[in-house]
Amino acid sequence: MIAKQKHIAILGSTGSIGTQALEVIRSHPESFSVEVLTANGNADLLIKQAIEFKPNCVVIADEKKYKRVKDALDKYDIKVFAGNKSIEQVVQMETVDTVLTAIVGYAGLASTISAIKAKKQIALANKETLVVAGELVAALAKENGVNIYPVDSEHSAIFQCMAGEWNNPIEKIYLTASGGPFRGKDKKFLTSVKKEQALKHPNWEMGAKITIDSATLMNKGLEVIEAKWLFHLKAEQIEVIVHPQSIIHSIVQFKDGSMKAQMGLPDMRLPIQYALSFPNRLPSTFPRFDFLNFPNLTFEKPDTETFRCLSLGFEAMKKGGNAACVLNAANEVAVSAFLSEKISFLKIAEVIEKTLEKASFVKKPSYEDYVNSDSEARIIANEIMDNIMPITRIDANDAKNNIMPIT
Ligand code: NDP
Repeated sequence: MIAKQKHIAILGSTGSIGTQALEVIRSHPESFSVEVLTANGNADLLIKQAIEFKPNCVVIADEKKYKRVKDALDKYDIKVFAGNKSIEQVVQMETVDTVLTAIVGYAGLASTISAIKAKKQIALANKETLVVAGELVAALAKENGVNIYPVDSEHSAIFQCMAGEWNNPIEKIYLTASGGPFRGKDKKFLTSVKKEQALKHPNWEMGAKITIDSATLMNKGLEVIEAKWLFHLKAEQIEVIVHPQSIIHSIVQFKDGSMKAQMGLPDMRLPIQYALSFPNRLPSTFPRFDFLNFPNLTFEKPDTETFRCLSLGFEAMKKGGNAACVLNAANEVAVSAFLSEKISFLKIAEVIEKTLEKASFVKKPSYEDYVNSDSEARIIANEIMDNIMPITRIDANDAKNNIMPIT
C-alpha cells in the first residue's frame, strides 16, 4: 500500500534542522509536502525556501521583517504572517498533518503545545519543550492521542531500538555523548577557551546554542530529561556514556540483559527522515558506514566533575517540579552571554547552579507556572551575571596601539 503524502509544518525552517528537513522533503516529494515554513529573522532564506517549496503559508517571527517577506512573495499563492502568536495559530491549520518543531530553545514551547492541542503529530527536535514542561506536554500528548516522534539522534536511536519491543519494558538506556570539543580537558584549560573553540564540534554541524550545550555537556543533561519524558523512565534507568566517534547513537538494555544499539554515520537527516516517515523507512543516499574506517569504537565515563552541567541536568530531573524549567532558562541566558563574550566558558555552569539555588520551587507547575518560572530564572541568571567580572579580550592590535580593551 502506498502511504498517503504527509503535509508538514516546519517551525524553524531556516536553522540547521529545518534546512536538513527540507533536504529530506526535497528527496521524497511523493511522501511529503510543505504546508508551513517559519523563521525568526532570516527573511532572505525563508523567501528562498518558500519560492522553492510553495507552502500554504510562511511566518516570520520578527514583525519588522514582515513587509520584506510579504513583498517578495506577493506574486505567489503563499500567505504571509508575522509574530510568534501566528506560529501558534498556523500549526493548527486543518491541512497540517505533522509539525516538525525545530525552533531553538524555550521559544519553541508554546507552538508545540498549540500543535498538540490541535492533535497534530509531532516530530520533536526542540528538546527544550520536554525539558521545560515535560510532565505537562506528555500529559497533553496522551490526552490528545498525539505521538511525539524524536528527532534528536540519541532519542531516535532509542525509538528505533524499541520498534517491535513495545511490550518489553526497558531496564536501562545508555545515551551516548561525543564529549564535545573539550573532551579530556581540565578546568585549567577551560578557563581561557574562546567561543570559536567551543563552536567547533568534532562530529556534528549544528546551530550555535546546541553546539555550546555540547561543549559544556549541558546538551546531554537536557537529553537525559528529554528521555525521561519520551520513554517514561526513572533517573536510575538513564546512563550517559562518552563515545567519541558518534557511531552508536544510543542503546536500550532490556530485562533479559540483551542490548540493542542503533548505529550509523553522524547525519541528522536520518533521524529527521525516520521521524517524518515512521513507521516506514524510506530510501536514502546518505553516506554509508564502513567498519574498516572505524576499527576502534571506544567508550568512556563522562567527566562530571569538570563538566558540571551534566550533573546539574540529572539533579534537576531528580528534583522534578519546575527545576528543569529553571535549569533551561539559566542555561539559555548563560550560553547567550558566553556567545556575546560577556562571561567565560566555566561561568556557564556557575550561573546555572546559582540560579537553581535562588529560584522559587514549584512542585506541580501549571503552564502559567512554567512561564513565570522561566521569566524569574532569566532575571536571577542576569543578576548573577552582573556580579561576575566581565571577561577582557585583549587582541594583538589593541596591545600594539596601546588601546585599553573595552570590558
Ligand atoms: P538553529 O539555531 O540552527 O535554528 C533555529 C531555528 O529557530 C531558526 O529557523 C531560527 O530562525 C528559529 N528561531 C530562533 N529563535 C526563534 C524565535 N524566538 N521565534 C521563532 N523562531 C525562532 O538551531 P538548530 O536547528 O541547531 O536546533 C533547533 C532545535 O533542534 C534545538 O532545540 C536543538 O536543541 C534541536 N536539535 C538540533 C540538532 C542539530 O543537529 N542542529 C540535533 C538535535 C536536536 P532564524 O534562522 O530566522 O534565526
